Amino acid sequence: MPLTPEQEQEIAAERGTSRPTRRATVPALEEILYEALPVLDRGFVRVIDYMGDDGAIVQAARVSYGRGTRRVSEDRGLINYLMRHRHTTPFEMCEIKYHVKLPIFVARQWIRHRTANVNEYSARYSILDNEFYIPAPEHLAAQATTNRQGRGDILEGEAARRVLDLLREDSERAYAGYAAMLNEEAGTPLDPAWPGLARELARMNLSLNFYTQWYWKTDLHNLMHFLSLRADPHAQYEIRAYAEAMLGTMQRWVPSAYAAFLEYRMNAASISATGLKVIQRMLAGETVEQKDSGLSLREWRELMAMLGR
Ligand SMILES: Cc1cc2nc3c(=O)[nH]c(=O)nc-3n(C[C@H](O)[C@H](O)[C@H](O)COP(=O)(O)OP(=O)(O)OC[C@H]3O[C@@H](n4cnc5c(N)ncnc54)[C@H](O)[C@@H]3O)c2cc1C
Repeated sequence: MPLTPEQEQEIAAERGTSRPTRRATVPALEEILYEALPVLDRGFVRVIDYMGDDGAIVQAARVSYGRGTRRVSEDRGLINYLMRHRHTTPFEMCEIKYHVKLPIFVARQWIRHRTANVNEYSARYSILDNEFYIPAPEHLAAQATTNRQGRGDILEGEAARRVLDLLREDSERAYAGYAAMLNEEAGTPLDPAWPGLARELARMNLSLNFYTQWYWKTDLHNLMHFLSLRADPHAQYEIRAYAEAMLGTMQRWVPSAYAAFLEYRMNAASISATGLKVIQRMLAGETVEQKDSGLSLREWRELMAMLGR
């Protein structure tokens, strides 16, 4: 996650500034405010701003005049209740804003989450840095044979080296072509005899592993929806790495909502009506087989995995 000395100075200046406020603040989140939390080889997530805390959720749920805080255990119980019963609007009272640096292919998955406000770095206006993602060797895997959307065995030795070489060579060549087409450095033409191509066109030969950046703001309800999909083991490793860093920020920000989220969403299970009947028959002592369960083989396997069988 290489930041330039100027960027580090800007972050330090922000971190060194305090502002008096009557609004609720969260010391654990303040501790890491503006800090770049490293993700992948050159990416990061930074919390830039936030509004609300656990108290804001209960305050909105009770439509209170004051902070709405009773005993911590009561507030926690209410947050658990809201999460369990999908009473989601009180969670929308809290907002968070991130600055994210991420490879373009991760951004393409991320941008599908429409319930957020996004402002991306403009490669029409500015020149993209020569920064591209190269996976760590332990994340280079072959195509899965059982799941068309997943990874199989880790590539080793010569196969891994070949992939890493190809990725690096292609990225470097693409950036060299981009720089040549732009034909400029700090606003000055490198070759005054050549006009250079517009930034908005020159960028098109860059590959999906180049890094982009954006500000991404959302509310806690939609953040949890994003995290439930992207911190899930079915999500691609690269976006999951960002989601996991963001889970850490959520834990600092709204610890009671975070605990409820793990309990009732992330680590909970959703079971179909037929799956529930299978469990009920099993609990009644019946031996149930897939063929007389009413479930497809895939559903059966998923249910058995969920039950640890
Ligand atoms: C493991 C995984 C694999 C995926 N594979 C593919 C794939 O192969 N191809 C592909 O194209 N996408 C794929 N996706 C993306 C997926 O289909 C969703 O687009 C993405 O997860 C965003 O989810 P969302 O729409 O619920 O989120 P958001 O856009 O944040 O929306 C949140 C919720 O708001 C509501 N909402 C928002 N907009 C609308 C609307 N216009 N109409 C109705 N309700 C709305 C819905 O209830 C929605 O769930 C994949 C996602 C995951 C996690």
